[in-house]
Amino acid sequence: MTDPAIAPADAPADALSGVQSRIAHAARIARRDPGDIALIAVSKTHPVEAIVPLITAGQRLFGENRVQEAQAKWPALREAHPGLALHLIGQLQSNKAEEAVALFDCIHSLDRPSLVTALAKAMDKAGRHLPCFVQVNIGAEEQKGGCAIGDLPALLAEARAAQINIIGLMCVPPQAIEPAPFFALLDKLAADHGLDGRSMGMSDDFETAVMLGATHVRVGSALFGARA
Ligand SMILES: *Cc1c(COP(=O)(O)O)cnc(C)c1O
Repeated sequence: MTDPAIAPADAPADALSGVQSRIAHAARIARRDPGDIALIAVSKTHPVEAIVPLITAGQRLFGENRVQEAQAKWPALREAHPGLALHLIGQLQSNKAEEAVALFDCIHSLDRPSLVTALAKAMDKAGRHLPCFVQVNIGAEEQKGGCAIGDLPALLAEARAAQINIIGLMCVPPQAIEPAPFFALLDKLAADHGLDGRSMGMSDDFETAVMLGATHVRVGSALFGARA
């Protein structure tokens, strides 16, 4: 991975077009329209100065995984660059629901009934109804966010009853093993529940995810370089 500190000035634009063409290539292999896949540039840990060049290169959709970090970086960026969209891709504590609803345009980490309650309340209060993905603990890992596969039908029903707009499922497969079976499983679960969105695939595996139906890939280090 290129160190952004020593990379040439056009490195962000090159990284962006490289990732975009890899997405398009994977989509064509799977006979999908590349335009159906949204690239979320995951800017967590990276400062505003690293984000601006990507905006200049044309990227409009970004992801952060912590509310506090996003609050410090994004209000000024959004003011300076109208038309940006910001997605929350990391775990959300219920007591941060109001801040998250105020700051983000979409939440990928809805994973438990208490968060359904907190988000529904925050959205009603703000009059801002964000689309959400339900995160699934696709590898049944302890300590990992996401609802258990067995709990998914009940959680979806609760979210719908609370009038939260669920647009798809999200997963982070277990590390260091082949992710394809987990992507295929998320795709099947989404289809079983009549959901169109599949948020899956990161820097190391987004092409596999695209071939298996991803509608949103969340790519950080392949765009920004390695995190500190
Ligand atoms: C950090 C993160 C990503 C991006 O990871 P990279 O490997 O840097 O592409 C994607 N999804 C989630 C949930 C993350 O926390």
